[in-house]
Amino acid sequence: MQQIIATYQQSFAHQAAAVHATPSRKAIEDLRIAWLGRKGKIPALYQDLKGVTDGREKGLLGKAINELRNTIEAAIADLQAAGARAVLAAQLARPPLDVTMPVSAGSRMGSLHPVSLMRNLVVDELAKLGFSVFDGPEVETDFYNFTALNIPENHPARDMQDTFFIAEHPHYVLRTHTSNIQIHAMLQEKPPLRLVAPGRVFRVDNDATHTPMFHQVEIVVVDRGISFAHLKGLIEYTMKAVFDSSMKIRLRPSYFPFVEPGAEVDMLCSMCRGSGCRVCKESGWLEIGGCGMIHPNVFEAVNYDSETYTGMAFGFGLDRMAMLKYGINDLRQFFNGDYSFQQQFPLYSPR
Ligand SMILES: [Zn+2]
Repeated sequence: MQQIIATYQQSFAHQAAAVHATPSRKAIEDLRIAWLGRKGKIPALYQDLKGVTDGREKGLLGKAINELRNTIEAAIADLQAAGARAVLAAQLARPPLDVTMPVSAGSRMGSLHPVSLMRNLVVDELAKLGFSVFDGPEVETDFYNFTALNIPENHPARDMQDTFFIAEHPHYVLRTHTSNIQIHAMLQEKPPLRLVAPGRVFRVDNDATHTPMFHQVEIVVVDRGISFAHLKGLIEYTMKAVFDSSMKIRLRPSYFPFVEPGAEVDMLCSMCRGSGCRVCKESGWLEIGGCGMIHPNVFEAVNYDSETYTGMAFGFGLDRMAMLKYGINDLRQFFNGDYSFQQQFPLYSPR
């Protein structure tokens, strides 16, 4: 057995030298398995050792086998480390990935959906003013979608919204507006609060100018001394940022349960700039959304002190705004997945 151990010492040294000359992950692993694996040579030696009866001889042989095993383990660890270094060196030797390489003319470059472009444009502008982006659930309880927004049970406004109710769960709805997010935000955060909340909303509507799913954004400010003048200023700022500095807005008194006073927001027709055209039905103005001062009952619902704080809210449709900004005449274009339509838009939000 002494003889075998001596032979093994030599043959391992030869094999290790061969692997060292051309190291590969497979060669190193094969070497490890041949010597240290469950059916390898070293475990076989230990097995044979069990048959040695002379105690002194058994002790000497055991020591020799241990030494051989330690030598092999150390050599294989060295080979593995050298192999890892070789792989890294090969990677570093390759030319680096050049991200500035021009894209070949025929390749299909990705672009952002016009609604995403519009959302990013609005969110980026408001982020500059220190607004935070908030999100909320699309499947919502009637508390967040209605009750907390001053739309109590049996209020006709629940009808007005053409809501998708969920048959098995009468207190859950697909949110009809992004206004549910302001309730989540106000329950979560203490005033003052500045938030922008974009998202998908759902109504039972389906024709050339309405789809059952569309996109809204809501902009909310709560602080001491917020007035209607701030609201008008913010809407004007936002619309000038989305279109250009010559954009004008006007407000018409209207009713939304969650604001008081409330107003509809019109902007100068982006197609004719007020001179009258088919898009604006010759009026020169386009209705784009609703706004108002947050109703004290909404503050009640979220435990905000309506004596100390006032708030303003402005919401509008991102789909309609994208149509006006990019001159798209059919809402259905947004949803039919036509590549040649989509390809006309850039990867980043242009100003
Ligand atoms: Zn017009």
